[in-house]
Amino acid sequence: MNTSHHYQVIVIGGGHAGTEACLAAARMGCKTLLLTHNIETLGQMSCNPAIGGIGKSHLVKEIDALGGAMARATDLGGIQFRVLNARKGPAVRATRAQADRVLYKAAVREILENQPNLQIFQQAAEDLIVEGERVTGVVTAMGLKFTADTVVLTTGTFLGGKIHIGLENYSGGRAGDPPSIGLANRLRELPLTVSRLKTGTPPRVDARSVDFSDLEEQWGDTPLPVMSYLGNVEQHPQQVCCWITHTNEQTHDIIREGFDRSPMFTGVIEGVGPRYCPSIEDKINRFADKDSHQIFVEPEGLTTHELYPNGISTSLPFDIQERAVRSIKGFENAHITRPGYAIEYDFFDPRELQYSLENRYLKGLYFAGQINGTTGYEEAGAQGLLAGTNAALRAQDKEPWCPRRDEAYIGVLVDDLISLGTKEPYRMFTSRAEYRLLLREDNADDRLTEIGRNLGLVGDHRWQVFSEKRDAVAREQARFASTWVQAGSAEAKALEAKIPTLQREYSLADLLKRPELKYTDLANIKGEAVTDERVAEQVEIAAKYSGYIERQQQDIDRLRAHENTQIPVDFDYDIVQGLSNEVKQKLCDARPQTLARASRLPGITPAAISLILVYLKKQG
Ligand code: FAD
Repeated sequence: MNTSHHYQVIVIGGGHAGTEACLAAARMGCKTLLLTHNIETLGQMSCNPAIGGIGKSHLVKEIDALGGAMARATDLGGIQFRVLNARKGPAVRATRAQADRVLYKAAVREILENQPNLQIFQQAAEDLIVEGERVTGVVTAMGLKFTADTVVLTTGTFLGGKIHIGLENYSGGRAGDPPSIGLANRLRELPLTVSRLKTGTPPRVDARSVDFSDLEEQWGDTPLPVMSYLGNVEQHPQQVCCWITHTNEQTHDIIREGFDRSPMFTGVIEGVGPRYCPSIEDKINRFADKDSHQIFVEPEGLTTHELYPNGISTSLPFDIQERAVRSIKGFENAHITRPGYAIEYDFFDPRELQYSLENRYLKGLYFAGQINGTTGYEEAGAQGLLAGTNAALRAQDKEPWCPRRDEAYIGVLVDDLISLGTKEPYRMFTSRAEYRLLLREDNADDRLTEIGRNLGLVGDHRWQVFSEKRDAVAREQARFASTWVQAGSAEAKALEAKIPTLQREYSLADLLKRPELKYTDLANIKGEAVTDERVAEQVEIAAKYSGYIERQQQDIDRLRAHENTQIPVDFDYDIVQGLSNEVKQKLCDARPQTLARASRLPGITPAAISLILVYLKKQG
């Protein structure tokens, strides 16, 4: 064997999962290879050039807190930034950035090319080398063999990819890219459960053919948000405007005319599509009473005229697409630059993975991204980072890291996938997390950066910036706890306009819990406010929500007892008296690794958990 072709970690696929996976493994000191079809498409956004949004920005900030690339690339490529749910509580606030797809890709590529321990090679992976129950390498389309301690598979929508426009279809990984057929066939020979999913994208439109005069403008936020904990607004390129328009009854009539040539409605597409990002034909079919749907008109970049009409993803025939687009206000003379299409692809049942994202039956093989049944760059990136980390840990003979649901959205994502599986493309929402107040986007660094540092994922600069912030928060909280305001004092009088009823002595920390008062109302009392707004924000949120946060923490502590109660992989649920056959079946299918995970399966009652606990104690 040529030892120069041996790697500790090989990552197949340079999309959002693959780039985070190889960067994570390389940051941890592993000799890593990224094998991808085309170096020019590293970090390519297959669909909307936007990062973040509700639930998703939490994942981006977690990737960032662990040293990943997505948030940094967004700060360098983002051409419009907004904070969604800004008036709601901090748990559901979410940062979203429209990106220039060229700048975003360039930023990802630069990070990859400057990452020590990482080599990139442009080749399709055609085969996996499997010895017994272990994956030991990869064979490329040219027949080159690369051996590895671990392999991470992140091939996105490419495995057996089939593109549909009307009743026409052809093989493809996404428009303009080849599918991955050889590898798909090979994977179907292995003991893996494969099914099909589908997703779609709208036609793109040339901005020069659009009449913006009647469209509603939508600008980004001021002050400008940033995505990365290391980011600053000076890094952002020029900021631009988006617009809003709507479909109308005429659009809907035209779209209905195409139903008999729709691959979805005629049964040509078998895969299930994303429920929360349906095609326009699906929306019109399902919500027949609605006579209009909103469309966000979003620029694809600073150096192109192409626009992304967000909300009209479609796989209808091109003639219908063109007529439907031209029936929309502002788009009367629109020139379509690329047709919309749907793509069907192979995905693997995520219930066959361990929490480390390693396959249960093939050691050393990790799965991340769209192939696990998810949709979205952020979901892919988060899994990539986790799979890359665990592949590196295995290569270093260390225990895996499996974040819990109360630690990270990454933990929620993986736990949902592995315990429940998915029948449709899975996307993240804040509502999926039961400990939302603890898992905020503003405290992802506080939750994860120290863990990342211990794993070897977080470099010196990030660690220093984080430590300084954490110390500053602790100092300010200590000052607030030990600074007192006496009723009747000059300080209390200054607050009277907001709280006239001060009757005793209060610490600033107590006062900050009051809804009428903000950090800025109190910070200059007997001291000076901190200048770093992010420190002030942490002090304020921790005080305002302390009651709720403590209650969530108590729930977590109670559950954690179960979290540590392991259920053997071969545990025989049939011997547990009192469990219904249905419950037994669910547990046998899911094979939860701990009692806490069993308790989160739908239909598994606390009574069932108690019964299993009794048997586990007997066996233990
Ligand atoms: P990808 O980004 O697909 O990357 C896969 C990478 O693997 C590519 O670089 C590819 O070249 C490489 N590769 C594949 N096979 C091989 C091989 N054998 N050897 C070497 N390299 C290989 N997400 C949403 O959230 N909302 C949407 O509305 C949406 N619409 C979409 C519409 C379309 C048409 C497509 C294609 C995707 C859409 N997505 C959408 C999904 C989003 O693009 C993916 O979730 C995300 O890109 C997944 O990241 P990934 O890293 O898993 O895979």
